[in-house]
Amino acid sequence: MASSSYRDTDQEGSRSERIVFGQPLLAIAFIAVAAFGMLMAYFFFGRMTQTPVNSYAVVALAEPDTNILELGSAGFRERWIASDGEPFHVGIISGHQGSDAGAVCDNGLTEADVNRNIANKVAERLQEDSIVVDILDEFDPRLDNYAADVLVSIHADSCRDYGDSLTGFKLAAPDTRASLGLKNCMYQAYATTTQLFYHVNTITEHMTDYHVFRKIAPDTPAVIIETGFMNRDMALLTDQSDVPAEGIEIGILCYLEQQQ
Ligand SMILES: [Zn+2]
Repeated sequence: MASSSYRDTDQEGSRSERIVFGQPLLAIAFIAVAAFGMLMAYFFFGRMTQTPVNSYAVVALAEPDTNILELGSAGFRERWIASDGEPFHVGIISGHQGSDAGAVCDNGLTEADVNRNIANKVAERLQEDSIVVDILDEFDPRLDNYAADVLVSIHADSCRDYGDSLTGFKLAAPDTRASLGLKNCMYQAYATTTQLFYHVNTITEHMTDYHVFRKIAPDTPAVIIETGFMNRDMALLTDQSDVPAEGIEIGILCYLEQQQ
């Protein structure tokens, strides 16, 4: 059938030329558009959905979810006022506070300063959500058997210029269902809010075997976040620090919402 219909159209002269000549062009155009689309999808989602290679990656990280941003909107705040009687209780560790400076940049900016600024902003936002917040030092005595609905430790990454590749955020959590649920929420919220990539290759034992994870009450959901690199992501972490603060807030609210 196919060959006979081809012969039929061939007898119609100029029309057959259009078909025979037009179809390959259309096919090439279609393939080019499809290939471009797949490349774009690969670059956009491929970088976002890398899963960590450390042993804590029991729960696969979900893709960024723009719906999650609603949790940070003003209209949503009332929901946190009306939780079942008891207010939620969240601990925020201001990384290195009370201990040392952490990473130090050539201009004198310290990681501890960057962390403190973001931690305070996260705390303010959560308090606006009627959540009770403790701001904790890195080695705060209250961390021994610390019990809370959520604990987040805020750090930032090296200020040294290693090249273009060192941009992005990182997470690590204890290997419990609750902590991995929190980590998943934090991943979605932080990736979506900041548009930073998840920099899986530089997750170290300092994160996965974080000293705080060994001190707190075992059923306290906890996560440590490296909010970005102080070199490439400097503007986001300082001038635009409301953005990472919002990302962390939404990550916490995402998890608390699942507990209501
Ligand atoms: Zn640090």
